[in-house]
Amino acid sequence: MRAYLSDVVLLYLDELIDWDSYLNWRRGEASDAPVERAALREVLETAAQICAEQEPKLRAGWAQSARLEQGQVVYPPHIAETLEKLRAAGLVSFGVDEQYGGFGLPAFVANVILQMVSRADAGLMTILGLQAGVAEDIQRYGSEELKQQYLPRFASGEVMGAMDLTEPQAGSDLGAIQTRATTTNGRTFVDGDKIFITNGGCEIHLVLARDAETFDQSKGTTKGLSLYLVPRTGADGKPNGVSVTRLEEKLGIHGSPTAAVRFEHAEGWLVGQRGQGFNAMLSLMNNARLGVAAQGIGIGEAALDTAIRYARTRVQFGVPIADQPLMQDRLARMTLELEGSRALLYRACALADQNRAIETLMARVEAGSKEISEAHKAELQALHERNDTRIRLLTPLAKYMGTEAADSISRDAIQIHGGVGFMAESEVGKLHHDAIITTIYEGTSEIQVSFALKEIGKGALGVVFEVLEEELKAFEEPRMKDLADKVLAGMQEILGAAGALLTDFKYAMMSAQALADVVASVLAAGELLKQAKADPRRFDLAASWIDRRMVDLEARCKRIKTGSVARLDRCASIIALAE
Ligand SMILES: Cc1cc2nc3c(=O)[nH]c(=O)nc-3n(C[C@H](O)[C@H](O)[C@H](O)COP(=O)(O)OP(=O)(O)OC[C@H]3O[C@@H](n4cnc5c(N)ncnc54)[C@H](O)[C@@H]3O)c2cc1C
Repeated sequence: MRAYLSDVVLLYLDELIDWDSYLNWRRGEASDAPVERAALREVLETAAQICAEQEPKLRAGWAQSARLEQGQVVYPPHIAETLEKLRAAGLVSFGVDEQYGGFGLPAFVANVILQMVSRADAGLMTILGLQAGVAEDIQRYGSEELKQQYLPRFASGEVMGAMDLTEPQAGSDLGAIQTRATTTNGRTFVDGDKIFITNGGCEIHLVLARDAETFDQSKGTTKGLSLYLVPRTGADGKPNGVSVTRLEEKLGIHGSPTAAVRFEHAEGWLVGQRGQGFNAMLSLMNNARLGVAAQGIGIGEAALDTAIRYARTRVQFGVPIADQPLMQDRLARMTLELEGSRALLYRACALADQNRAIETLMARVEAGSKEISEAHKAELQALHERNDTRIRLLTPLAKYMGTEAADSISRDAIQIHGGVGFMAESEVGKLHHDAIITTIYEGTSEIQVSFALKEIGKGALGVVFEVLEEELKAFEEPRMKDLADKVLAGMQEILGAAGALLTDFKYAMMSAQALADVVASVLAAGELLKQAKADPRRFDLAASWIDRRMVDLEARCKRIKTGSVARLDRCASIIALAE
């Protein structure tokens, strides 16, 4: 169980997140912070125990896929059993508020649970992550009637949810959606085909559809899209025109059903405002992106742990391969990748939690059940705004980093296993197969770095760097200060490189990945230093991250600054050689 509830998670639970303010804002002064924190720890311990106990069965059942039987999706036994255990412990739909029967868990705790589940079985995490995300979107955007009707059923695990966006012609580009929502006499009916839908056989679908009234004018854009809750069964108990037409066979996450879903005159209920569906869906996707980053961390942990254990026991040339300098360096690099990504994810979660807590406090103030001074109100509003900007940049970066780390760590783990790693039954081979999809769904890595670039273009770097600079300048201990100074110098390099991109949009797009890498490097560096201050055993981790990444950063920034859009012509002529 300890592997699942690691020291670094406890470090955030005990020291690196300001839980007192969170609980005070979220629940009021009467909240008992030590008791609440102990309860959060208990929740994590329960999840860790279930995952550790179920891990052998989940790993053994890895190759078994969900089946389609007479239109119903049937989970393989290892998934159904673990899902039931989590459900019995109340660990599905983590974010549903207490008033609707949930635990209202903070994003940090919810994402650590997803990370644990992913470590045990990434396919199961996909099912659970979607379930939690759909419930949270209903909670955030649904009418009170929809919330009362569905959230208690999500919290108890009675119903499962799916998010239906993708269509054959609309993948990364959701402006191409053609599923149609027609409203007549106050009732709305949805028609269209969705593909690649996780949990596609479930009861509750959140469908992004184009409204018939503005269909032609809005075609090709994300305007005119609305979000509808479409149940599989109507209020009269009869089928509601939602059917699974196919289940996919995949390279990995076999336990998670991926379905083609058809909507034929299926009645739907508006979630949020008409024409604003894309925005509501973005909020779901942002939560889901943190979830997929957690999924990547979980897979990365499992692969790294397996690789280290193998490298310690496999002897070649008279010594364990773990003692070969090249292998030591590789294992250290894998650990750095994992921990850098984790640092970014946990900070993004902590910020999301802080903002949710501020929103709850403000709602109480609006309702008149709490009084705060105008000055305090303005201070909290400014903090919320600053956090919001940070979250919008950190979320795509955390998703990009966590999932690319899972991909490369699991690939490295295969290499460390040599030929054994390439055998069909190889544990790390399976983990690598599971890792690949994390860089694709909930927005591909290319889409994440483009989103990050967009936020930088809107000025996010200034806000994010202001906070980071303040944090870095606070380190006084000489060794920590030295490292912090290197990061501060890196930030100056980045500002110069970002400035060079402002002149040409195409060149900026071409450089989006390089820019995302360097920005993520300094953000993770600041967080790793905070970890090292709280736990000196993590000093070498922070130092190594900064030493390696700042050298790389300098080279990348130099390349960005010395280039121009002409590089695209060069790309074209290089590609022509391969055609
Ligand atoms: C197992 C699985 C589960 C899924 N679950 C769900 C689900 O529950 N609900 C749902 O709605 N969808 C789901 N999806 C769909 C998933 O979100 C999409 O596959 C993903 O968004 C990518 O879309 P696409 O496959 O059409 O690829 P495309 O959009 O065609 O992209 C192909 C390649 O082009 C790149 N690309 C595209 N546009 C750009 C650009 N502007 N700049 C640079 N590169 C670009 C992409 O990064 C990618 O590398 C799932 C998919 C899978 C495989």
